[in-house]
Amino acid sequence: MNSILQHDLNDLENILEKAKRQGIDFLNNLENIPTSNNNKIDPKRDLNNLGLGSEKALKEFKERLAPLLVSSPGPRYWGFVTGGSTPASIVGDWLATVYDQNTQSVTSQGGNSALIEFETINLLLQLLELPDSFLGGFVTGATMSNFTSLAVARQWFGKQFGKDFAKNGISETINILTATPHSSSIKSLSMLGIGSQNYTVVKTIEGNREAIDLADLELKIKELNGKPFILISSAGTVNTADFDDFEAISNLKEKYNFWWHIDAAFGGFAAVSEKYKGYVQGWENADSITIDCHKWLNVPYESAFYLIKKAHVNLQIETFQNSNAPYLGDPLENFNYLNVLPENSRRLRALPVWFSLVAYGKEGFCDIIEKSTSLALHFGNALIEDGSFELLAPIRLNNVCFTLKGDENQDKVGEFLTKLNDTGTVFMTPTVYQNKKGIRASFVNWRTKEEDINIVLEEMKLLI
Ligand SMILES: *Cc1c(COP(=O)(O)O)cnc(C)c1O
Repeated sequence: MNSILQHDLNDLENILEKAKRQGIDFLNNLENIPTSNNNKIDPKRDLNNLGLGSEKALKEFKERLAPLLVSSPGPRYWGFVTGGSTPASIVGDWLATVYDQNTQSVTSQGGNSALIEFETINLLLQLLELPDSFLGGFVTGATMSNFTSLAVARQWFGKQFGKDFAKNGISETINILTATPHSSSIKSLSMLGIGSQNYTVVKTIEGNREAIDLADLELKIKELNGKPFILISSAGTVNTADFDDFEAISNLKEKYNFWWHIDAAFGGFAAVSEKYKGYVQGWENADSITIDCHKWLNVPYESAFYLIKKAHVNLQIETFQNSNAPYLGDPLENFNYLNVLPENSRRLRALPVWFSLVAYGKEGFCDIIEKSTSLALHFGNALIEDGSFELLAPIRLNNVCFTLKGDENQDKVGEFLTKLNDTGTVFMTPTVYQNKKGIRASFVNWRTKEEDINIVLEEMKLLI
């Protein structure tokens, strides 16, 4: 063994203690670490011939690299839709690394870590009150979940014409209908060879809505003259957290032949709260659903899952099977993850979620969801009261989409947000909503408190 590796091995406990210390110092200081910074490094660092060993690498990380990092798991990072790791999720994430399992298969590769993924999906179905007619798996984010779901939808579409697109490539125009798709679904259409421009935009409901207009949807369906299609619908749009009417779409399922995908990256968690579960009523009738865990479940990044109806498992295997060997027997009995999703070798990605669900239970997550939504309302009301701001849309859930009051101030929105983000006190995302420049604050993080909102409002008043 290389002598430096040998030294690290002998010194493992000390090294991990130091890494833990580094992590705890960061977490305990999240409130004071800025949400943005302009620190830079020259990334052309020379590779050492003789390694430094972990301890010195950690020292270099602390001095050179850590200053690049921001308080994104902290309470005032309201950009995008970003959670922050809870204690239990950190435990799960650390242990996933330590145990370093390959979760691609249930039995044949030695080790049964895939059963932990099965169990975690089952716990998630219980959390979201979804039936076990779904088969789920973990991927790195909602983008990959949309990709995985739409890949199976693509295979389904071919089968409606008696064709196997997975084997022979796409040879029919694939009809896609959608109203307010997330950019990652469009990216998925590009990655899937369907084409990022090849979809039909369905109108949204008149007025200040991003949800699909059902009359227009039915009109566009009729224009397809009985041809099959894929519907990409939304449970939580990023600007205004709007939801399509899933009961109504369920009814359309009775009349027309389509694959129904729901991007519920963050909005799916509405199901956890009695107050908001009405938003997703009927979603169990979808063919596939995308949900992110590194958002409202507050686990570290690279955690999302897809749910695809078990009835479609053969299509899923046709799409993702790793060898061309025909499947023998019941596909669910010989189940291996590497045959149903994009990756082959993969980490035990489910573990942070497993720890979170076991540690905090349904109530823990219900509290996070309801607290986030009440903070969003609190912030929205404070903006209105202030008089310098206006909401661009009503607050349905956890996202606040607002702008500087008055059309004459549209030019100032960008500069205002840049200055605000530069304070490092808070981070929000620029957006455009109904042709207006706006700002989006998303409440997702379990650490955020009323106090944080007051701190941010003070900063905003200074800059206006
Ligand atoms: C965040 C988000 C995505 C993309 O998620 P990643 O985890 O960044 O891949 C897709 N859809 C919706 C609705 C989202 O909010």
